[in-house]
Amino acid sequence: MADTSGQKKTVDAVVVGAGFAGLYMLYRLRGLGFTARVFEAGKGVGGTWYWNRYPGARCDVESMDYSYSFSDELQQEWRWTERYSAQPEILKYINHVADRFDLRRDITFSTRVTAAVFDEDDDRWDIRTDTGEQVSARFCIMATGCLSTAQVPDFKGRESFEGKWYHTGHWPHEGVDFTGQRVGVIGTGSSAIQSIPIIAGQAAHLYVFQRTPNFSVPAHNAPLDPDYERSVKANYTEFRRQARESRIGFVVERNDKSALEVSPEERLSEYEKRWNRGGLGFAATYTDLQTSKAANDTAAEYFRAKIRSLVRDPAIGEALVPRHYPLGTKRLCVDTGYYETFNRDNVTLIDIKKSPIEEITPHGLKTRDAAFTLDSIVFATGFDAMTGALMSIDLRGRGGETIQQKWAEGPRTYLGLAIAGFPNLFAITGPGSPSVLSNMIVSIEQHVDWIVDCMTYIKEGGFAAIEATAQAQDMWVEHVNDVGHMTLYPQANSWYMGANIPGKPRIFMPYIGGVGAYRQKCDEVAAKGYEGFSLR
Ligand SMILES: Cc1cc2nc3c(=O)[nH]c(=O)nc-3n(C[C@H](O)[C@H](O)[C@H](O)COP(=O)(O)OP(=O)(O)OC[C@H]3O[C@@H](n4cnc5c(N)ncnc54)[C@H](O)[C@@H]3O)c2cc1C
Repeated sequence: MADTSGQKKTVDAVVVGAGFAGLYMLYRLRGLGFTARVFEAGKGVGGTWYWNRYPGARCDVESMDYSYSFSDELQQEWRWTERYSAQPEILKYINHVADRFDLRRDITFSTRVTAAVFDEDDDRWDIRTDTGEQVSARFCIMATGCLSTAQVPDFKGRESFEGKWYHTGHWPHEGVDFTGQRVGVIGTGSSAIQSIPIIAGQAAHLYVFQRTPNFSVPAHNAPLDPDYERSVKANYTEFRRQARESRIGFVVERNDKSALEVSPEERLSEYEKRWNRGGLGFAATYTDLQTSKAANDTAAEYFRAKIRSLVRDPAIGEALVPRHYPLGTKRLCVDTGYYETFNRDNVTLIDIKKSPIEEITPHGLKTRDAAFTLDSIVFATGFDAMTGALMSIDLRGRGGETIQQKWAEGPRTYLGLAIAGFPNLFAITGPGSPSVLSNMIVSIEQHVDWIVDCMTYIKEGGFAAIEATAQAQDMWVEHVNDVGHMTLYPQANSWYMGANIPGKPRIFMPYIGGVGAYRQKCDEVAAKGYEGFSLR
């Protein structure tokens, strides 16, 4: 790489982001002899697991699944301590990977990529950072994350608050001790559901401001069973193969029946079995839970009864019961003692759909009907999912057209990997790919492997550039939409639909056709000489 006094550096590839995706991308690029530079806004590796240090943060895909498969030595030597590992352990793992494969030397930390502009004269990307660096790269790879742009609602008076406020996705590294404090948590999505039981154990009083109740299934987290660990490690190759070919990137017990074809007694016993096992496998109890409202209602009713049975005060139980969208169409949460937390005397649930937050005040916040004095506010308000990170870069393709123009009506990609008008640019787990509907490490590895194969094809074929055709992209977008609309997902105001961001177009962004089927499609595209792409 040239790095001489003020001259523009040149590399084969710039990778933006050093989470699971960016790190594996760098590893593969190096292995194939591509020169690469990774830019990461954070001070360290880890992405999601670097930023989300809130109490209770942990994965909800089991750790034996939610880990890299690319190195057998790595997967054999690493030992997870719990069924679902907590954030510090996952971060330790990612740091271990960075060290074990000597990745840090090509990563520039504390540096945000602010612009990436395609130069049509030499088919290269001109990449600029907030530290004034400028790099010219043949390929630009966006490993910027689907859930990396924290969303803090713009409440009136937010800046006037005299206490401390936090977003779960930007948690202070030194941790926060809420002992003796009056704390308000705004939001009841996955991060809130994980953190509320722990914050409630510390705070003098916790006020939970809920707009939409969520369905959450118990994790039944526990130390990892050594027999289970041994059996997975003895068969890891097969275990990973099955995950890659599965619907969601990990194997859950499937049932080939409709929820409507079995007796109510059988259904109840099956739901009970899954609830007691814990975790996301609940959503696979019957084949039609995501496609038939009547089938879904049976599972949702089961959940509602469970919530009522866990919460002592019937009025609070009712307020925690989700009613207005099918189960699983907003991300199903996985918790440890969430509903039971509302049995504590120091926890109050406030329904902000009925009585919206009107403003943040110097000493707390005001809803339409009441004022609350707070020492700290926790925004568990999620992310500008799937598009936020890309849309905050000044990203310009052919003819100077910006991503903001291209995606004004919602994201459009070919396979979630490439964008027409943006040659030699790839997105890892972009909108239009299974991404957030899957075990993301499986999806990340698949995308990275596909991208490096494609780059090798370009290099060896002597091509200057590859670009998705507008026609292939249109067809893919239509397919993603069609498949999405065969399910109940679009019925919910979810972040999958962009509904948590004011003004964001309502499009069902991820591809729900299944991880295995999607992989097959990507492989076919490659086997046909990159069908749907134009090569120059
Ligand atoms: C709390 C939480 C729990 C989760 N649990 C699971 C789970 O159990 N299973 C699962 O499959 N998925 C889970 N996810 C999703 C998780 O995001 C992915 O599994 C995975 O970590 C994504 O890795 P990534 O590298 O693609 O993105 P990220 O980890 O988000 O990394 C992207 C990185 O890019 C950097 N970046 C972005 N823009 C720029 C820029 N312009 N310049 C420089 N750097 C930039 C960011 O700082 C970030 O570090 C969870 C997400 C959250 C928030």
